Amino acid sequence: MESTESVLKRVMNKNTVRNHDSGTLFSGGNDNTEKCPLCKDRGIILQGDTAVPCSCMEKQRTDNRFRYARLSRELLNCRFERFHLDYYRSLDGTDHLNNAKKALAASQDFTDKIIDNPHEVGLLFTGPVGSGKTFLAASIANLLIEKQCSLLFLIVPDLLDELRATFAHKNETSEFDLLDIARTIPILILDDLGAHNYTEWSRNRIYSILNYRMNEQLPTVITTNLNFEEIEHYLGERTCSRLLQMCRVFRLSTEQDIRMQNYVKRENLKEK
Ligand SMILES: [Zn+2]
Repeated sequence: MESTESVLKRVMNKNTVRNHDSGTLFSGGNDNTEKCPLCKDRGIILQGDTAVPCSCMEKQRTDNRFRYARLSRELLNCRFERFHLDYYRSLDGTDHLNNAKKALAASQDFTDKIIDNPHEVGLLFTGPVGSGKTFLAASIANLLIEKQCSLLFLIVPDLLDELRATFAHKNETSEFDLLDIARTIPILILDDLGAHNYTEWSRNRIYSILNYRMNEQLPTVITTNLNFEEIEHYLGERTCSRLLQMCRVFRLSTEQDIRMQNYVKRENLKEK
């Protein structure tokens, strides 16, 4: 399997949010079966005397971006259209619903605006487990990847594990590479900035990523189940203050964990 660093390196495009490169001309893949009847997998077709990129290249580029962005299979299906506000209806008032509407609107606004403004202010979704934060963040990611944006979706505990592993192997170059990519990728999504066992070392790594991105005005979308007091407790005051500067904050909450609501629905269907 290709190493994370090498995958990450290839996804990088430090200059623009949207990558206008023409992709790599592929030559039939590994299985030797021809996939595109138009160009015979050459990636280009002739229009008169001129060679132009085949339409399959766009799809290939999008597929590659999805692979490099590292979204898990489950998250690939997250789309704004499937963010159901019904989960947020409750008997005890309209707060859940109103907050969810605001978070959804802000997410859609972000994906619209970032195409023209690569320095759009980021988003931070806070709220309990199972309130739809990751779903929204992944919906943003999927839409932007389809629009050919360079984006990386990192789950914070996994990121810290990877950084620790490269650091432990005394491979400082790799650690620096991964950090460097998280710092400089045009759009970064940090999922689950939660109550993990942060050491001074990991706190510094998170700070270094966020501080760089704040200074360079690179948009970051973050999900966390911590409130700001807790963020300050776990990650320190300077990180907390940077988050406020670089993100608009939205709270998501429901009467009951959405996964639990789905579980009940699924099991009820099976009993019928
Ligand atoms: Zn083709």
